[in-house]
Amino acid sequence: MEHSRSNKSEIHYHIRWSNSLLDWKPFPKKEEAIELAGRIRKPNESYMIVERDSECEKCKAFKSEGKTSE
Ligand SMILES: [Zn+2]
Repeated sequence: MEHSRSNKSEIHYHIRWSNSLLDWKPFPKKEEAIELAGRIRKPNESYMIVERDSECEKCKAFKSEGKTSE
């Protein structure tokens, strides 16, 4: 998969938790988002991975606010 990385309009992924909170952290690959979500989710908490592009409202808000947490 690495060799065929395309660069189309900043596609990336976010974790959306079951309480509909969108995680601020962008992931370049869906697999990475799934892996982290699986590690940090609480028991019985569900999530879905959402795809965003350069028009991502979450990243825009994050960039304009500056980092609030790491
Ligand atoms: Zn984003």
